Amino acid sequence: MKLIVASSNKNKIKEIREILGDRYEIVSMADAGMDFDVEETGETFEENSYLKAKAVFNRCRMPSVADDSGLEVDALGGAPGVYSARYSGEGHNDAKNRKKLLADMQGVKDRKARFKSVITLIDENGEVFIGFGSTEGEILFEEKGENGFGYDCLFFSYDLKKSFGEASPEEKNEVSHRSRALADLTKKLWYYKK
Ligand code: IMP
Repeated sequence: MKLIVASSNKNKIKEIREILGDRYEIVSMADAGMDFDVEETGETFEENSYLKAKAVFNRCRMPSVADDSGLEVDALGGAPGVYSARYSGEGHNDAKNRKKLLADMQGVKDRKARFKSVITLIDENGEVFIGFGSTEGEILFEEKGENGFGYDCLFFSYDLKKSFGEASPEEKNEVSHRSRALADLTKKLWYYKK
């Protein structure tokens, strides 16, 4: 079955393909001939995840899936949260976001944080399924490792005992918020469709 991923983030599409690729044919919006951005106007991962999946489903009426994810830092009251991708404001990118996070965390002792992911799948009949996942860790004092994307090299994973930036794709996929959300989603799909 074809599954259109409502994202232009190549890293997310790659991870979703690594995790679901043996069960679904993962198709990017670009490959499905769709080129538009969905405004993330929601205030929660759930809302934004649904907005993105629904926008793509409305266009193509094919099974669509969207991940909305981000980093929650306890000492920052849960920020950057849904604003993770846009944390550094105008002209934001991953490197600028990490720089701002390190600046905001200067002198902060409690560095506990988690990645969260909410994945919405809308099936061919328009039925909505939602998977939730999170993974716990701490914000490092400096970048470690070159793998991954976003905040990976600043996130020390309690499960892996190293940063996501130092982990191989396989290691990260074993414990990541995204793989956990996809596992939750798969379980729900299985119960509903069996
Ligand atoms: P959005 O879900 O497209 O709104 O953006 C998610 C943002 O959260 C990304 O741009 C990253 O900054 C961050 N993020 C989400 N998942 C990960 C991850 O697995 N590693 C590192 N950063 C992530």
